Amino acid sequence: MTHTIDLPSPSNELRVHSKNFRKQIVEVTRGVFVAIGYSASNVTLIQGRTGSIIVDTSANPVDAAAIVAAFGDRLVRPVHAIIYTHNHPDHSGGATVFAGDDAPEIWSHERLVTGEPELARGMRDGGDQFGIALPEDQFINAGIQRQYGRETPHTREGFLPPTRTFGGREHVLHIDGVDLHLLHTPGESEENTALWRPGPRVLLCGDDLYRSFPNLSPLRGVRLRPPEAWIASLDRMIALGPEHLVPGHMQPVHGTAEVTALLTIYRDAIRFVLEATVDGIRKGLTPDELVQQVRLPEEMARQPYLREYYGCVAWTVRGIYADRVGWFDGNPATMFPLAARARAERMEKMVGGRDTLLAHATEVLAQDDAQWAAELADLLLALDPACDQALCLKADALVLLAERQINAPARNYYLTVAATLRRRAGTEKPASC
Ligand SMILES: [Zn+2]
Repeated sequence: MTHTIDLPSPSNELRVHSKNFRKQIVEVTRGVFVAIGYSASNVTLIQGRTGSIIVDTSANPVDAAAIVAAFGDRLVRPVHAIIYTHNHPDHSGGATVFAGDDAPEIWSHERLVTGEPELARGMRDGGDQFGIALPEDQFINAGIQRQYGRETPHTREGFLPPTRTFGGREHVLHIDGVDLHLLHTPGESEENTALWRPGPRVLLCGDDLYRSFPNLSPLRGVRLRPPEAWIASLDRMIALGPEHLVPGHMQPVHGTAEVTALLTIYRDAIRFVLEATVDGIRKGLTPDELVQQVRLPEEMARQPYLREYYGCVAWTVRGIYADRVGWFDGNPATMFPLAARARAERMEKMVGGRDTLLAHATEVLAQDDAQWAAELADLLLALDPACDQALCLKADALVLLAERQINAPARNYYLTVAATLRRRAGTEKPASC
């Protein structure tokens, strides 16, 4: 007799993942507290002899005030120093609240100030990986955050620029009786700074590790985050032998063996994808072929910290390809492809008319072939960008694709584009319009 096991649907797995964003103050070790789930990212409080040190500042002054309240009398003023692990808005937007009237030193790596600004603003084609505008019943989470900018926008009004920076690989601080090693550990951002306290063996790793496959090549449109640098940074962290690991998102991890194993498999997963992709490039595979071939080995794919809630293996493969080989996949037919409309006109002619195309797209969607339905809808929209039926068909296809994702950015992006298409069709009805 065979037994079937009920595996959660992808969207249910993502829902279960939301438990990792529960609001809580965790005492990592004596005098070190982390506020989880109050904002898009964690804030860590390190108690000194006479006051406090704050690592990361949450997304905005509203979240920061909630965290100050939650820390309560554990946060002893004055705040002597604020340290940014990196510049992302969810980590750096609430500094004014923690600083108060204490005039703390604000520390970061110098690349936080001198780094290259991002070119794209994240929202293209009406899509948004954070799902900021999605209605509550469609939104699950933002992958490594419970939400990102939905409840309180990530304004920069609470940001305080660094007053002190360091430029090398390491800088040792002695603040209020606390020894802190700032380690430049580029990975999720070029300025990522890990904090190491040798005494209690606590490592704050910034965003170089979180409970998801790493976001090496984000959907929202930034350069590939260099995998070699990320691997080297994890190597440095492994060599420290931390007893407590505090990531920039979600729960800390305890125990030297467990922390070491986690840092190691995280590093190995990045290395695996990098090496398999480079190997495939050498063999002449195209990006479309590579994403079919490069998959994490089963024991890695099942690891909770390597599930693709936020980063995605296929996007990493494409990012590495574009970074190493450029845009051209090697096929001469893709050197100067037909414009979308010219291609659609030829397809229309080939199948015998637009109605046939529409009927076929509707039929394949009814058969759950959502990806193909979306691609056929694109042909119809290239012929007539205002075709209501094609707009709604594509929206329906994207909603189906969203439900099949554990990847929150993909889900959020599908659903926000679907909403945009329905608005263009003049209706916001949830089902097929
Ligand atoms: Zn973050």
